[in-house]
Amino acid sequence: MTDTIFGRIAAGEVPADIVYEDEHLVAFRDLNPQAPTHVLIIPRKSIPTLNEVTDVDAELLGRLFLAAAKVAEQEGIAEDGYRTVINCNASAGQSVYHLHVHLIGGRPLQWPPG
Ligand code: AMP
Repeated sequence: MTDTIFGRIAAGEVPADIVYEDEHLVAFRDLNPQAPTHVLIIPRKSIPTLNEVTDVDAELLGRLFLAAAKVAEQEGIAEDGYRTVINCNASAGQSVYHLHVHLIGGRPLQWPPG
């Protein structure tokens, strides 16, 4: 669980600005926010990328997105709209190899992303 900075945050070893947590996951503000709201939702379980997810993790994936919707409501961006993103591996720009969902909102977002 502690093999990456996010694993260490999940383990409570490294501080983060936590906005929601439960037994399965932790949601905290991104250190380098790309929008007024930029929260990362991570499972406590260490999974490097979306490629390593298996059937066993199906419920956990659902929980990540349920938490994203909950945090969006909490942040007051649910009605205006927001984006959830999972970057997988180098071409997508993944830099931390502990699965995470970006929750981004609070400003108009362009499409397609870069
Ligand atoms: P990704 O590029 O999809 O792997 O996203 C990693 C994200 O983690 C980036 O947006 C970073 O700004 C963010 N980040 C890295 N270290 C931390 C940290 N200690 N606390 C909060 N966010 C972080």
